[in-house]
Amino acid sequence: MEILLHICCGPCSIYPVTVLKDKGFLIRGFFFNPNIHPFLELERRIIALETVSNVLDFPVIWDTQYGLKDWLDTLDGKLDFNDRCLPCYAIRLEETAKMAVKLGIKTISTTLLYSKYQRHDKILEIGNKSAFQHGLEFYYEDFRQGWQKGIEASLELGIYRQPYCGCIFSEAERYSKRMNRLMKRLEKKNNFLENPRMKEA
Ligand code: SF4
Repeated sequence: MEILLHICCGPCSIYPVTVLKDKGFLIRGFFFNPNIHPFLELERRIIALETVSNVLDFPVIWDTQYGLKDWLDTLDGKLDFNDRCLPCYAIRLEETAKMAVKLGIKTISTTLLYSKYQRHDKILEIGNKSAFQHGLEFYYEDFRQGWQKGIEASLELGIYRQPYCGCIFSEAERYSKRMNRLMKRLEKKNNFLENPRMKEA
């Protein structure tokens, strides 16, 4: 059976692709992630997935746009973690469903189901909804059970492993402690502004 597998990145694709192949699925990957910023990060993740698709021998359909603006338009100013992730899943799975219809593929799924850091139940709910609206099946499996195997395989391949989810907001959250330390250090440097002698000068 053919499946259109939405792929968020190379490391997250290894375990699901291996499992689906073992189950006899004919896989076509679909890289559509307007949520990945900045551009150099997107480029690194694309190169990592190119390596995985060559090694595991499956084709990938690539989104050829840098979707930052469209992604921000979709969120419409809802940038908090609780607001932004669900539309972020939805635009990616909706686009996957549309692509599957175009290709005549009846089943879709996503490597987002591999991540321990994503909202698994919501991905399932949104995936089912998008598939249903387009007359497709959403293939569900809890790929998180292969978390460690996927990490080890990606380290063996030596591919880029990203330190944050994808959007610029997740990058800021990932480094929030480091950012706070830096800002405090700079605030101390600015203390001379409070020095009365400096004010007189
Ligand atoms: S944290 Fe990840 S899932 Fe959530 S909005 Fe950012 S890129 Fe999308």
